[in-house]
Amino acid sequence: MEKIRNYIDGNLIAPASGDYIDNYNPAVGEVYSLIPDSDSRDIDQAVIAAQKAFPAWSRLAINERAAHLLAVSEKILANLDRLALAESIDNGKPLWLAKSVDIPRAASNFQFFATAIQHFASEAHPMSDQAINYTLRNPIGVAGCISPWNLPLYLFTWKIAPALAAGNCVVAKPSEITPMTAALLSELCIEAGLPPGVLNIVHGYGQKVGAAISTHPDIPLISFTGGTRTGAEIARVAAPMFKKLSLELGGKNPNIIFADCNYEEMLTTTLRSSFSNQGQICLCGSRIYIERSLYERFKPDFLAAVQKLTVGDPLEDSSRLGAVVSEAHQEKILSYIALAREEGGTILSGGEAVTPAGRCKNGWFVAPTVIEGLSPSCRTNQEEIFGPVVTLTPFDDEAEVLSYANGTPYGLASILWTENLPRAHRIAGQLKSGIVWVNCWMLRDLRTPFGGVKNSGVGREGGWEALRFFTEPKNVCIKF
Ligand code: NDP
Repeated sequence: MEKIRNYIDGNLIAPASGDYIDNYNPAVGEVYSLIPDSDSRDIDQAVIAAQKAFPAWSRLAINERAAHLLAVSEKILANLDRLALAESIDNGKPLWLAKSVDIPRAASNFQFFATAIQHFASEAHPMSDQAINYTLRNPIGVAGCISPWNLPLYLFTWKIAPALAAGNCVVAKPSEITPMTAALLSELCIEAGLPPGVLNIVHGYGQKVGAAISTHPDIPLISFTGGTRTGAEIARVAAPMFKKLSLELGGKNPNIIFADCNYEEMLTTTLRSSFSNQGQICLCGSRIYIERSLYERFKPDFLAAVQKLTVGDPLEDSSRLGAVVSEAHQEKILSYIALAREEGGTILSGGEAVTPAGRCKNGWFVAPTVIEGLSPSCRTNQEEIFGPVVTLTPFDDEAEVLSYANGTPYGLASILWTENLPRAHRIAGQLKSGIVWVNCWMLRDLRTPFGGVKNSGVGREGGWEALRFFTEPKNVCIKF
């Protein structure tokens, strides 16, 4: 069986422990490869390699650093089909989705930051004829990057690319649940001629490898995307060490639909924002609030569209939803559906596991599920499920829906549907979230700040925000 290897100091190597973890294909429910069960010894080795590479990498002319990143981007594009297939097998997501979104975006992440760094500038503050201040923005050293399983290569590279572009070296850990495309990226970086030690990828459990990154004294900054509880644990150990932290955490996003929306566009997009990637995107709109006058029109139309979604083999083009990522995650989603029933909800569609015929009969699938009749304050409407489950709730006016939308501990993204321009501005301004999409969803410009408020995180990724995070400002004041 294929054994994944760590990528340290330019080499593909076995973990210090010699032990491996089973890696499952969630669509068939079988182990198909082995993941290094790394620990702090592997992280120590990776940090030493990164520290050794740092002086040369950080001093490299910006256009040369950019050229290295562009070479990686080109390798990703040249291997798009191979990477997409690997992502689909590892994660359970439809192959067409990995091909059209995940892998192209991973290439764009490298390309975007390779060019962004060439336009990145800092400030000067002249003090009339007395002195001038100028701000240096230096790379910091070894950056720790930890990412989740839902958009494996997409989110992994979203951290690595700006960290490297800014001149840092990186020790990165992909989710142990979906390590395969990170392993392939290691090979592509070697082929692309990335200098040894600049990027190191260490596989294994969060409790061991992730914790070793968070606590390592020579990793002064950490960029993390994952669950809120894990983010809190990282902050607990890293904050007393005064590490710089960027935490992109969970969400429970509202999708607010006013009767004056563009109905057809809203319906098509709401189907996507509810169930793309089996609902396992931190930006999915899982709480759908519909203006009461539209509710009885929306409900049957939405349900009819949901019932047409095919759940099945991720490798088939006809599958709109693939497998959820693991058996444990399937159980978690189904337990939330059971909770929704206990809380008095009515399951309008789905509500159970799906068993496709053929090779996927032992895979972990969940039907797209629509629930109504729940209070906005119940657990189903407050806690992140992170699966293909949405709730429908009617509302009467702006104040009421704003109180629902803002009434969770999360604040990542909000979606708003209205053709009334003053209302769009009014509500967008009052939504407590880091991102508001009006009449669209997942329309991304990589220059914009990306991140959440409240329990959805601290800090922002994207554009200058990312480059500022991965550099340390230093003011130099020169008296004339
Ligand atoms: P987890 O928090 O479980 O894991 C994220 C990463 O952290 C994994 O690599 C994990 O390793 C690692 N990890 C686990 N424990 C520790 C630890 N003690 N110290 C350091 N690292 C650790 O999240 P999931 O992988 O389950 O991802 C789903 C979550 O991610 C959802 O809550 C979702 O909302 C959020 N997310 C947020 C996004 C955003 O931009 N705000 C985007 C995408 C997802 P291992 O896999 O081995 O446990």
